[in-house]
Parts: sequence; C-alpha cells; structure tokens
Amino acid sequence: MSRSIIRVESLHKSYVNGSNSLHVLKGVDMDIREGEMVSIMGSSGSGKSTLLNILGILDNYDEGAYYLDEKHIGKMNETKAARFRNRYIGFIFQSFNLISFKNAMENVALPLYYQGVNRKKRNLIALDYLERLGLREWAHHLPSELSGGQKQRVAIARALISNPKVILADEPTGALDSQTSLEVMEILKEVNESGISIIIVTHENDIAARTQRIIRLRDGLIESNEVNHAFELESVKVN
Ligand code: ADP
Ligand code: MG
Repeated sequence: MSRSIIRVESLHKSYVNGSNSLHVLKGVDMDIREGEMVSIMGSSGSGKSTLLNILGILDNYDEGAYYLDEKHIGKMNETKAARFRNRYIGFIFQSFNLISFKNAMENVALPLYYQGVNRKKRNLIALDYLERLGLREWAHHLPSELSGGQKQRVAIARALISNPKVILADEPTGALDSQTSLEVMEILKEVNESGISIIIVTHENDIAARTQRIIRLRDGLIESNEVNHAFELESVKVN
C-alpha cells in the first residue's frame, strides 16, 4: 500500500466572531494515499473550503492532528507554513486567482519569484509549463484576454511549476461551462497520472465521477468515503 500523503485525525475547526462561535469541522478523519485523485463533496457551507484551507496550511485547526507526507503540521509561523506550501502544495481556485496586470507567463512564474529564482530563468521555465498546457502562444497575454478555460490552465501551470506533491483544487470547474470543465478534468487526470496526488472540492456529481474516490462532508463530519468503481471501470476500458 502506498504511503499517506495527507492524513487528518479528529480534526475540529470553529470560527469565532466575538461571542459567536461556529463549529464547522467536528472531528474529520481522512487519509489520502500518495498518487490518489479524490473528490470532496458536500452542500454549500458544509466546510469543504475550511478543510481544504487547513490542508493547504492557509488556516489553523483547533483540535486533532494533520500529517502532510507523514509530517505533523501543527501551529506554525507564516515563514514555516510558506516553506511547506512551496515544497508540497499547488493550489487551484474557482476564480483562478491570477494577477490581472501580469501576463500568463509572469503569473505562472510567480511561485519561482518567491523562491528567489531570477527573472530570466523563471520565465523560461514558465514558458515550458505553458507549452505543456498548450498555451505557449498566450504567454504574453493578460488574464483579461483569456477564456475561462485558458485562465484555469494558466493557474494549473502555476500550481505545477514548484513541483508539488499535492494539488488542492477548490471548485476548479465552478466558473466554467460543462465542456471546458471536462477539459480541465482531463488535464488534472494527466497531472495525476504523472504521480501528483489531487484533492478536488466540488459539488458537481459529474466532476466527482471523474475521481477515484468520493468523500462526502455533512454537518462537519465525513458522511461517506467510497471508491468510485465507475471510474476504475472506465480506466480499465481505456487501457
Ligand atoms: P463550503 O466551502 O463547503 O461552502 P466553507 O468551509 O466555506 O463551506 O464554510 C463553512 C461555514 O463556515 C459556513 O457557514 C461559512 O459561512 C463559515 N465560514 C467560512 N469561513 C469563515 C470565516 N473566515 N469566518 C467565519 N465563518 C466562516
Ligand atoms: Mg467553498
């Protein structure tokens, strides 16, 4: 059995605003193995983004434990959190989160800028990733000149450039039409086949159907966690 890339045990998280406290995660247990492509489903407000933000070390949890690549992730300062994120994690968001005044190449190169890679080198590497995603000709275009699907491919290239072990995608197809959504899922499948683990938050059944395992969150707990046999059969057919 492959090693665990992301494991949480009895994870709790509340948001506190003054005297109000909202208990969002109420003891979540989850184990994602290296190389898996998993979806997390649940209705709006069920805590999907909260969970993903904790997995991405963008937010702290209150109780329980989180292990990333078997390393315990507790409370840490922003410098250390950023180092873990850089080394392990690529993010993809529903709204792409591209910088509007930077072109596609510069957006893709951004993680390398934070790693101190010089401009010439990081732009060359960014062009290579854009090429792989079929966007070489769009390198010098601003996000506003790209379609939704192209923007998400730029975001995927940016997530890949730091060579992450895990991609965390929060509703990556939520702003795309169904045809473009399937294209993005095809790309993510190829990314996964290159060995990168992927967790996709979605509330769309046909997106979850394209992952190997479907985890359902409800009222702050894992309601179900099932291997997607339809996906396995599909893979067998194709191969
Ligand atoms: P989902 O992604 O499944 O729609 P979220 O994790 O975004 O759900 O939110 C879960 C609950 O926590 C919601 O009720 C939401 O309003 C609340 N929430 C999310 N973020 C915050 C925050 N920063 N402060 C207070 N409440 C929050
Ligand atoms: Mg959300």
